[in-house]
Amino acid sequence: MPLRPHTALDRPLILLSNREPYEHVHKPNGIEVRFPAGGLVSALDPILRRTHGTWVAWASGNADRTAADDDGRVAVPPGDPSYTLRRVWLSESDVEGFYLGFANSALWPLCHLFVNMIDIRRSNWESYERANQLFAAAAAQEAERVGGAPMIWVHDYHFALVPAHVRAMVPDALIHQFWHIPFPPPDVFRILPLGVHDTLLRGLLGNDLIEFQTEGYARNFMDCVTRALPEAHVHAEQNLIELDGHQTRVEAFPISIDVAEWERLALLPHTLEVCRTLRDRYAPRDRQLVVSVDRMDYTKGIVRRLRALEHMWTDNPERRGAFTMLIVATPSRTDIPAYAKLERDVLAAIARLNNEFRTLDWTPIVLVHDNVDADLLAAVYCAADVCIVSSLQDGMNLVAKEFIACRKDRNGVLVLSRFAGAADELNAALLVNPFFIDAFADALAVALDMRPKERAERMTVLRERIANATIDDWLDAIIVAAEASGQTAKGDAAAR
Ligand code: UDP
Repeated sequence: MPLRPHTALDRPLILLSNREPYEHVHKPNGIEVRFPAGGLVSALDPILRRTHGTWVAWASGNADRTAADDDGRVAVPPGDPSYTLRRVWLSESDVEGFYLGFANSALWPLCHLFVNMIDIRRSNWESYERANQLFAAAAAQEAERVGGAPMIWVHDYHFALVPAHVRAMVPDALIHQFWHIPFPPPDVFRILPLGVHDTLLRGLLGNDLIEFQTEGYARNFMDCVTRALPEAHVHAEQNLIELDGHQTRVEAFPISIDVAEWERLALLPHTLEVCRTLRDRYAPRDRQLVVSVDRMDYTKGIVRRLRALEHMWTDNPERRGAFTMLIVATPSRTDIPAYAKLERDVLAAIARLNNEFRTLDWTPIVLVHDNVDADLLAAVYCAADVCIVSSLQDGMNLVAKEFIACRKDRNGVLVLSRFAGAADELNAALLVNPFFIDAFADALAVALDMRPKERAERMTVLRERIANATIDDWLDAIIVAAEASGQTAKGDAAAR
């Protein structure tokens, strides 16, 4: 992905995320390098290459130590090295406490408003603190190695405490953070115990800039600071917070996808062939195909989607056989009991519905319970008459944008939950409330019955939206805003 020429980055860049961009694993014939799939890594790898920066991340591969030097550094990409990957090792118990425990069993449900799923344990919080200190120390070491006043870009809810730690160790660094998931309102945030919620906010206020997916999440954050830290000055109209003489800007930067790449994938001859096969198999003659693509996560509303289907097929027998539902649900966080239970519930519900409604020539719901690569996903998106995104809460939802990017034919209807961050930009989709089962089923019926003209009109508007807000635009806007907040901070310091 080419960076726009105007995105000047005159400082060394240090990026920090939980997942590493390259992972070394032992194989029978030696060590293999894996490039973990995922939009974020492919979006950020080019800027690291171009700026010869440093990426600090958790060492998740079982051959990572062998491949790195004594300080945990390895030059990447393999074969054509242009930047440094600095690995951080965590003990097994810290992976459990920090990652599975506090980050994914407390912060994840808290930020997605799943209050009855929140599981707070003292030992997990202590692990989270320890891991954040370790990562901050590694980032500070890298800052010392590269010199100058680096830009340190922290990613996500795993690292709320890192910015304040790094600021204490590297005062002249420009520190900013992208928060990928929703941020909850104060009444939910204060479920975290005293001493935890104020520490998290103070940690985040070590940033010069915090980037949220939507204005709403940015406002929630400012409201949480107002409630929990009376000593902070929150200037909500200016999106600015002051604490202990330090300023933090808080702004929305909705993340996007590599639109051109998805368009390219969608038009490959192989994709068109797979798309035809999918239609022949699941949507022969005038039967339609409805698809969904998610990680198997309770925030995605998979169970409610199944309820809406049951409601539709029960109340409207003429809709039976009229469409097949293809559900791609990638296994996710299966070590956490809530996820294992969700998986069991979804599998049981699908089996029950198929049993109840199947006919000789029709299986109502087809489940792909596997990690599907982008090529095949592009074919799934192209084959669909309707794509459903039913998240009960979602920071953004990239699947919605990928579906649109793949539909150069301007066909296909997007049914999108109002509670996905993407709904702010994509209001030309059929917006639904997945908690309201009848209305959800009604919206699906509207989508299935929508005439080609309206499909094309809506898809045209959606495509214009994403064409002007790609992952390049997102990256540019953040780098420019971060540089600007660094300059403001410098100016303020000089004036003091
Ligand atoms: N995805 C994938 N294979 C799958 C299912 C999903 O590569 O089998 C990708 C999908 O293309 C999208 C991402 O995973 O880029 C999911 O991102 P989203 O924002 O929709 O949800 P998240 O998983 O980040 O909560």
